[in-house]
Amino acid sequence: MKIELNHPLKNLNTFGIDVCCRQLITLDMPQEVAQLQQEGIFNTPFYLMGGGSNTLFSGDFNGSVIQLQNRGIEVVHETADKIILKVAAGEAWQSVVEYCLKNDLYGAENLIDIPGWTGSAPVQNIGAYGAEVKDIVYQVNGIMLHKATFVQFHNTECQFSYRNSIFKKDYRNRLLITEVLFQLSKKPRFNLEYEAVKNYLISNNQEITLQNVAKAIQSIRASKLPDLQMLGSAGSFFKNPLVSRAQFELLATRFPNVPHYPAEADLIKLSAGFLIEQCGLKGYREGNVGIYPKQALVIINWGGATGKEIITFYRKIQAAVMNKFGVLIEPEVNEV
Ligand SMILES: Cc1cc2nc3c(=O)[nH]c(=O)nc-3n(C[C@H](O)[C@H](O)[C@H](O)COP(=O)(O)OP(=O)(O)OC[C@H]3O[C@@H](n4cnc5c(N)ncnc54)[C@H](O)[C@@H]3O)c2cc1C
Repeated sequence: MKIELNHPLKNLNTFGIDVCCRQLITLDMPQEVAQLQQEGIFNTPFYLMGGGSNTLFSGDFNGSVIQLQNRGIEVVHETADKIILKVAAGEAWQSVVEYCLKNDLYGAENLIDIPGWTGSAPVQNIGAYGAEVKDIVYQVNGIMLHKATFVQFHNTECQFSYRNSIFKKDYRNRLLITEVLFQLSKKPRFNLEYEAVKNYLISNNQEITLQNVAKAIQSIRASKLPDLQMLGSAGSFFKNPLVSRAQFELLATRFPNVPHYPAEADLIKLSAGFLIEQCGLKGYREGNVGIYPKQALVIINWGGATGKEIITFYRKIQAAVMNKFGVLIEPEVNEV
C-alpha cells in the first residue's frame, strides 16, 4: 500500500481537471482494505477510483482517493464452447478486450476502446454499439468496506440495467470491486445490431470476423470521439433519457421525427445527442468548456477548465433540453 499526501489528480482523470486530494491511497491487494477499515478511513470522505474516465472533480477533494491496482487475467473454467476469465479490478478494460481478440473469444469486441479499469466496468454497466458488459459478466467479486469481508454477486444479482447496477446504487461507497469474471464464447457470435457497424463492414467489403468487427468499431469511435491526448472529456457526458410511453407519445405529436428505441421496463429511450443537437448546441462553447463539434453527447475541456465551469455548463445544456422538449437529461458522469 502506498499513501501520498496532497496528491495532484490532473493526470488521473480524463477530463484533466487540475485538482488535488488530501491523500491518494494505492492498494496492491484487496486484503489491504482491512487496514484502512481499522484506521477508520471509511468514516472520513473517500472516493473509490479506477481510471477516472467517468469522474468529474468539482474541486479539490478533501479526502482519500483509493485505487486498487491489482493485475491479472486468468482462465478459471473452459468448455468446448465457453471460457470464464477472472480479471483483477485494476486491469485496464482494454486489456480484457485485447486478450479476447488475441485468443478468439467472442463477446467483448463491441466494447473495444472504452477507457477505464475492469473494476469500474460493471458499475455503470458499460455499453457501446448494441452491447453491454452485463452480456458477458459472469460474477463480480468485492470486499465490503466497513467489515472487510469478501462477497460475490452472480450476474443476476448485479441488477444491471441501462448504465446502472447495484454497485452504482445500494453498494455505492460500501463495496470495493476486486475482480470480475467474464464468460466469453469460443464459437463465433456477433452483435451487429448497430447499422453503422454493418454498413462499415459492407462499404469496406470486409467479412464478419472478430478482428474486422473490432476494427470497424474502433474506426467509427475514432471518427466521433475526441482523442484524450488532445482534449479532456469523459466520453458521453449524459445518459440517453428513458421516458414513459405516454410521455413519448406526447413528445412525438410535437416532434414527429424524434429518434426513439424500445428500452427496459416498457420505457422508451431517446437520443440525448439528438435532443442537444436540436437545441442548436452541437459545437457550442463557453470559455474553456464546450460540446464536442462531432458528437453532441460529449462535453470537452478545451484546456484549463475547472470542474465548476463544467458543472455550470452542463446544467445550461440540461435546462435548454428541458425547455425545448420537457425531458430531463441526466449526467452519466460521477460528480465528486
Ligand atoms: C473517450 C471516452 C469514451 C468513453 N466511451 C464509453 C462508452 O462507449 N461506453 C460507456 O459505457 N462508457 C464510456 N466511457 C466512460 C468510462 O470509460 C466508463 O464508464 C469506464 O467504465 C469508467 O472506468 P474508470 O475506471 O475510468 O472509472 P472511474 O471514473 O474511476 O470510476 C467510475 C465509477 O466507478 C466507481 N469505481 C471505480 N472503481 C471501483 C471499484 N474497484 N469498486 C467499486 N467502485 C468502483 C467509482 O467510484 C465511480 O463511481 C467513455 C469515457 C471516455 C473518456
